[in-house]
Amino acid sequence: GPLLKARSIDRSYGLTQALREASLSVAPGEILAIMGPSGSGKSTLLHCLAGIFTPDAGEVWFDGRRLDTLSDTRRSELRRTAFGFVFQFGQLVPELTVADNVALPLLLGRAGRRQAYQRAGGWLGRLELDGLGERRIGELSGGQAQRVAIARALVTRPKVVFADEPTGALDSLTGEKVMELLVGLAREEGTTVIVVTHDARVAACADREVMVRDGKVTDPYAGEAVR
Ligand code: ADP
Ligand code: ADP
Repeated sequence: GPLLKARSIDRSYGLTQALREASLSVAPGEILAIMGPSGSGKSTLLHCLAGIFTPDAGEVWFDGRRLDTLSDTRRSELRRTAFGFVFQFGQLVPELTVADNVALPLLLGRAGRRQAYQRAGGWLGRLELDGLGERRIGELSGGQAQRVAIARALVTRPKVVFADEPTGALDSLTGEKVMELLVGLAREEGTTVIVVTHDARVAACADREVMVRDGKVTDPYAGEAVR
């Protein structure tokens, strides 16, 4: 069955209904692009799938268990251990070096310093960032910073990586390159990737794309049972 599933979820901001009975199934190891017009509900859907928002109605399932009904503490814990995030204005800490930023999720997960920095260094190599470990984030190009964000998202070896317009601030060629690196590494690791994008070149790297329109999702697999 699917690794992650939204079943008929609603979500509003005040009077604005962002999601209307949205349903989506994501298979293990799948690279899924979520496309659709601006304001259609893509980001809200991603945040609900990632347990950052809870839906007003409907269900979210991850790995055979309800995600939306977990306590805040358990949901945060799950996000930290099983999920990675690549957002456009990501969580990179400008005061810290590149190596510190990538090691941070491991240090927060109570890995030893030596192991954390060793693993971080390995990921910097895989993202073609060798030699940049001691730089500050502000000293990087947009494409380099986004690759650091990917290294940071993958370093904990998450089951799912959530990416929201990860190439939005980059020119098209750089964006495509960044996406190819993310997808290539995800495939090697068997990581599931869910990427919100309006860029057809980015979506072309995915296994499958679904469309969100007016808070609804077109997904032929949405009816599949969870295990
Ligand atoms: P997309 O990612 O497709 O651009 P969003 O999920 O960001 O769409 O937004 C869906 C709808 O919800 C839009 O109408 C948007 O204006 C509204 N919305 C999103 N975030 C907020 C918010 N924090 N407060 C009020 N309305 C919001
Ligand atoms: P805690 O409650 O334990 O401090 P958080 O809920 O703040 O943990 O975040 C746990 C992890 O989930 C973070 O490492 C971060 O990568 C991710 N995360 C949480 N909220 C967001 C968000 N709004 N945008 C991107 N990533 C997030």
